[in-house]
Amino acid sequence: MHTLPQLPYGYGDLEPYFDEATMRLHHTKHHQTYIDKLNAALEKYSEFTDWSVEKLITNLGKLPEEIKNDVKNHGGGHYNHSFFWEILKPVSQDKSNMPSSDMIKLFDRDLGGYEKFKESFKNTALRVFGSGWAWLTVDDKGKLFIASSPNQDNPIMLNNIPGNPRPILGLDVWEHAYYLKYQNRRPDYIEAFFHLVNWAQVEKLLF
Ligand code: MN
Repeated sequence: MHTLPQLPYGYGDLEPYFDEATMRLHHTKHHQTYIDKLNAALEKYSEFTDWSVEKLITNLGKLPEEIKNDVKNHGGGHYNHSFFWEILKPVSQDKSNMPSSDMIKLFDRDLGGYEKFKESFKNTALRVFGSGWAWLTVDDKGKLFIASSPNQDNPIMLNNIPGNPRPILGLDVWEHAYYLKYQNRRPDYIEAFFHLVNWAQVEKLLF
């Protein structure tokens, strides 16, 4: 049985950027629903009981046809949201919320600098049509890329990308993530997100 992970902060702790009502709904309803539907899909297939959600979504080809799509969507939803909560943190005293100098060097090397990264990431998140995610990924040589995916897909599901990129930062751009507070203003939501990025966690995933 897959279960809802606790948030590493309170529902109201990301105010004023992510509001308490959205965080509560997003975690207890949306994320919980992905988990419930993942569990329901796996109910008949006890051979996958011990598989982690990461193992499930990176081995979709080994799953019975009947549940493959449900595991992709709901397993992906569970995995992506568990990831998302961890790369957020309450607003720091230091309002600029910059990454470390080591991380900035990597942005300089691979993405034209931190400001350029932010701009490209924002544009990528804005261009996601419908529901999906924007990602900062690292490949097996340590190179950074910006990517996006539709629905609840994640780059790690695709076993055919050269360098096997995996996310170290991600932004949920489903409307359920921002509509209560930002309505159609996705650009404002994306801007708000940068105040909340837990760079220490991003760097932990990187190095
Ligand atoms: Mn979401």
